[in-house]
Amino acid sequence: MYSDDTGFIESVLDGWAESQRKAPSLFWFACPRCGRQRLYERLEENAISRRYDIAICSECAEFEAFEDIGLLSRTELDEWFAVKNELINQQKLKHCNGALWQQK
Ligand SMILES: [Zn+2]
Repeated sequence: MYSDDTGFIESVLDGWAESQRKAPSLFWFACPRCGRQRLYERLEENAISRRYDIAICSECAEFEAFEDIGLLSRTELDEWFAVKNELINQQKLKHCNGALWQQK
């Protein structure tokens, strides 16, 4: 779907990874892959994705392992919560800017 836009995906995930490294606690951080589970408080307690250098929840780490042995179809980076969420935000912003433009 968006997989041709690797620059965009990398910028989103690098931003998340940087936030993970800087945060004193990851307790309130959502998993960038699924968005459902929370991360463990300390960065080193969390699993690192097999797809990108970023912490993910342990459930997602298991899913990635299952994908690699062929038990699940692969979830590409453009299907990750963090990437989709950013796209939605940008679309909202565009819509919002458009609405402001029309009011002038
Ligand atoms: Zn997850």
